[in-house]
Amino acid sequence: MQTTAMGLVLKETKLGEADRIITMLTDRFGLIRASARGSRNLKNKLFSSTGMFCYSEFSLFTQKGNYYVDEAALQKNFFGLRNSVEALGVAAYIAELVVVLEPHRPEEIQELLRLSLNSLYLLSEGKADPRLVKAVFELRAVAEAGYRPDLVACADCSRFEDKKGFFFDNKNGRIFCEKCAAFHCHDVDTPLSVVTAMRHSIYADLKKVFSFTLSEDALRIFTRTTEDYVLHQLETPLKTLDFLRTVLN
Ligand SMILES: [Zn+2]
Repeated sequence: MQTTAMGLVLKETKLGEADRIITMLTDRFGLIRASARGSRNLKNKLFSSTGMFCYSEFSLFTQKGNYYVDEAALQKNFFGLRNSVEALGVAAYIAELVVVLEPHRPEEIQELLRLSLNSLYLLSEGKADPRLVKAVFELRAVAEAGYRPDLVACADCSRFEDKKGFFFDNKNGRIFCEKCAAFHCHDVDTPLSVVTAMRHSIYADLKKVFSFTLSEDALRIFTRTTEDYVLHQLETPLKTLDFLRTVLN
């Protein structure tokens, strides 16, 4: 059967002399693996449209649950990622996270695809701090995938704002004001600016989700907090994170 889909390539595995097996997030089928025969050959028509981070319109042949790429028309290749080791590191992390999260619901697929494309665009064009893109992406992505923390107000007394900030309980995805935190298990002290950034990452419209800045100190706490939360919730080691930590520090 022939079909078409827009797809973002998130992983490529070399096979044989010139083939690739690509894993991509598609708008219509979610995460799929597809065989792109001959695509590692420079002269092959699929060479420049099926590589890592390519966003292309794919014509696919599908049989018994397997996908084969017939044609791929490149829409974006985010080539600018290659200009910055930090940007490339964050992009690789984003790709791994999407594969691990493996979205299934149609809204979740659309949201994650848009979020990934927006993130890769900002990284590729150097329009945002890679650390900020990483933190916003990971928090929003896991929230969409069913691990949404409740950051609206203190989980105990419902206080919405506290100048002193909150304590973030990353195991249970809750916040506590200073007064209530004394009665609960807590391990992360989170300034109000960081709680505000976390709230924005989860609740803001996708178009505006990356539009804010933080002081250097707050950014450091923000990135550490979101990363700890993701690792706690997923309970899966992420291979790209070790490399990323060395380039971002
Ligand atoms: Zn409270």
